[in-house]
Amino acid sequence: MIPQEIIRKKRDGGVLTKEDIAFMTAGIGNGSISEGQIAAFAMAVFFNGMTLAERVALTEGMRDSGVTLQWKLDGPVLDKHSTGGVGDHVSLILGPLVAACGGYVPMISGRGLRHTGGTLDKLDSIPGYETMPGNAKFTEVVKACGVAIIGQTSDLAPADQRFYATRDITATVESIDLITASILSKKLAVGLEALVMDVKTGSGAFMREYEDALSLAQSIVEVANGSGIQTSALITDMNEPLAGSAGNALEVDEAIRFLRGENERFRLESVVMGLAAELLVLGGLAADREKAKMDLKKALSSGKAAEVFNKMVHGLGGPSDLIERPSEYLPVASMRKTVLAKEGGWISQIDTREIGMAVVEMGGGRMRAEDEIDHAVGLSDFIELGDRVEAGDPLCTVHAQDDSQFEKAAQRVQSSIKLSDHEVGGQPVIYEVVSA
Ligand code: URA
Repeated sequence: MIPQEIIRKKRDGGVLTKEDIAFMTAGIGNGSISEGQIAAFAMAVFFNGMTLAERVALTEGMRDSGVTLQWKLDGPVLDKHSTGGVGDHVSLILGPLVAACGGYVPMISGRGLRHTGGTLDKLDSIPGYETMPGNAKFTEVVKACGVAIIGQTSDLAPADQRFYATRDITATVESIDLITASILSKKLAVGLEALVMDVKTGSGAFMREYEDALSLAQSIVEVANGSGIQTSALITDMNEPLAGSAGNALEVDEAIRFLRGENERFRLESVVMGLAAELLVLGGLAADREKAKMDLKKALSSGKAAEVFNKMVHGLGGPSDLIERPSEYLPVASMRKTVLAKEGGWISQIDTREIGMAVVEMGGGRMRAEDEIDHAVGLSDFIELGDRVEAGDPLCTVHAQDDSQFEKAAQRVQSSIKLSDHEVGGQPVIYEVVSA
C-alpha cells in the first residue's frame, strides 16, 4: 500500500477500507508515514468525513498502534471523559466516588490548553503527585485504590499522540470523525468496559453550538458501543464556569470540599451525580439511576469517597492526608482581591471562554503545549447566572501574584459578565442523555 494513494482516495471523497485505515494508523504510529502525509490525510478527512465503519476502523487502528491494558478485577472497569470546560474538576471527584461504589477507574487525563483547564495540571498542584508514572504504577494504584488519574503514557495509542500533534498545528482538530477516534482510541487501549462522556456546549465549550455537541456525542456513543464499550453521553452546559473556582490548586481545594460533603454548588453536584450515576448503571453496579444516586450519596456521606481520594493521591506519591489538611499542601497566590459589580442587575450572560482566558493570562493555563503553569493563581467564589447583584457586590475573588495581574483579570471578568435589568433564570445543567 502507498500512503498517497489512500490520501488521494479520501481527498476525492472515497470510502477507505479497514485495511487502508489500519495501514495509515500503523504508519503514523511507527513513524513510516511523514508529518506532511498525516497533515494531508487529516485535511482530507476534515473535508470529506468518514462513515461509521471508517471511524470504528480509525479508532481501533490507533488503539492497536500501542499496548492495550488487560484487567482481571472483581468489578467493572469504568471511566468518564469530558470535552473540557472552565471550573470543571468533575474528574477529581467522580473517579474516587465511582471507585467507592465498586468500580475501577483507570483515568487517562490531559493537560489544559487555551481557555480550558486540564485535570493533570490540577493534580500537579499537589506536592509529590506523579502524573506520568508509567503503566506498571498506574495499574498497581488502580488495583489497590480503585482509581488512578494520570497522563497518557507514550505506549498507549501512540498513533493518536502523533496524529493529534499534527492536527493541532494544521487546523484539523475540529473534525468530529477525528475527535471521536482520538478520544476513543485511548479509552479502548486502557481496556474499559463502560464509559460516560460529558460533552459540553456553550460559551466556554470546545463545541460551542448545541448541534455540534450533539453530533459529537452521537458519534462517540455509536463508535464506542460498536467497539465494545458500553457508552452514554450527557450534553451539559458550559455557559458559565461549572463550579465556583477556576485555577489549578483552587479547583483541587474545591473538589476536596465536595468530597468532604461541603459542596455549595448545585450545578457541580448535578453534573457529578448525573455522570457517575450513568456510569454505575452502564457498568452494572446499580439497577437504575435513582439507586445509583443513593449509593453515590452514601459513598460521600460515609467519607468513603474521600478516603479513596486520599489513598489514590498517596499511592501516586502525594501526601496521605490531603483531604484533612489541603491548606498545608496546596500552593497559595500572593494576594487575593475581590472584583466588585459596577452596577446592579441580574447576571444574564457570562463569556466563559473569557473567564478561562483570564486564568491563562495570570499564568494558570497555557496557550502552547510547552508553557509553564502557575498552579496557585485563579478565580474563586464566582457569581452564577441568574444571581442578582447590587453595585459594589462581589462578582468573584481573584488569586493573583501582583496588582497588575489582578487588574487584567478583573477587567476580563467585568467585560465577560452582562447584566440585565429584569430577572433571568439560570441555565439548565444537563440538556440530554444520548444512549445507544
Ligand atoms: N481531545 C482529544 O483527546 N482528542 C481530540 O481530538 C480532541 C480533544
